[in-house]
Amino acid sequence: MIDLRLKVDSLPLDVPLIIRLREQTDVELGPHDAVLLDADGDRREYDYNGFSIGVYTRSGESMDSDVLLLLPGQPSAHRLIRANSEHNTFLVTEQCDQLCVMCSQPPKKHHNDMFEHFALAALLAPPNATIGISGGEPLLHKHRLFEMLSVVIETRPDIRFHILTNAQHLEPGDIERVASFGRDRVLWGVPLYSATPTVHDEIVGKVGAFKTLEQGLSVLLRAGASVELRTVVLRQNFNDLPALAEFISTRLGFISFWAVMQLERIGYGRMNWTLSFKDTSTEFDPLARAIDIVSARGIQAWLYNFPACSVPSPYRAHAPSTISDWKRKYLDFCDSCGARETCGGFFQWYDHAEGFTALGPL
Ligand code: SF4
Repeated sequence: MIDLRLKVDSLPLDVPLIIRLREQTDVELGPHDAVLLDADGDRREYDYNGFSIGVYTRSGESMDSDVLLLLPGQPSAHRLIRANSEHNTFLVTEQCDQLCVMCSQPPKKHHNDMFEHFALAALLAPPNATIGISGGEPLLHKHRLFEMLSVVIETRPDIRFHILTNAQHLEPGDIERVASFGRDRVLWGVPLYSATPTVHDEIVGKVGAFKTLEQGLSVLLRAGASVELRTVVLRQNFNDLPALAEFISTRLGFISFWAVMQLERIGYGRMNWTLSFKDTSTEFDPLARAIDIVSARGIQAWLYNFPACSVPSPYRAHAPSTISDWKRKYLDFCDSCGARETCGGFFQWYDHAEGFTALGPL
């Protein structure tokens, strides 16, 4: 697995520090750049404005132009941006107002406001980067988040954002601000689990969430925003998927696309695995009908986090490789598979003993 936390030599920091690692000498250096001086085994030494910073990596991979967040008293740095990856995400808060049965990042009460540092990290990102924003629920800190987006969007016209939000905190007064970010600069990833309000509310652990979500989606619609609707396939909503597809295609036709996702076995997803995991390698019909319904009405459906061999061949084109490189793995039987190059495989924390029962090389 790729390290997103890197051991660092202890530094006398009073406040958080953002640095960008530079391993090449032919680039223009800025005030936040730390320049490679020496590499010895797994330790690399950088010069940061006259201070020595030691960073450790096991993999030997390039860290040129990576952006790190160093915190006072912490022996490891957060690798906020990996310059050669398309999967960079800022976890801006661990607070959330929902309690979803499949939550991969169970909420915490405390919030550390790091938006100023995230903004700087985004400004230092490589050209044309797309940065994910997740939580917790990022819009619990809507005004700080919006400030950060405005600064980066204005200063770096090449940077895009993908924001995961439960859309519970968008109000009509936000329409102008959301519109100002630009349709092509921010993609809003919003979860909807069922067209039946009580089923959706039960899955997200919040009474009234469906109704509030409808209002939030209407704000995004009126702002002309790009929206990716996200649905995790669960035992709780599997048979509802065709009805959800009807609802989406008749009421939410403005969305950019629909992402139907397999369950991630981590956090509450692990705790509730037996209750919630739906083995789509043995039963796919309701999902196939749902894809057919939205496709017939011109909405693109994608299958995220589905191993290619868990999807019947007529629907395999809907299942691109989506699991981030740092949390992806393959199993022994994948070695002889002709589809391995295009298949996204499994999450690192997937347990095949409790997982899909009808997989195999293609
Ligand atoms: S055998 Fe492995 S690589 Fe091949 S489609 Fe299945 S999960 Fe993917």
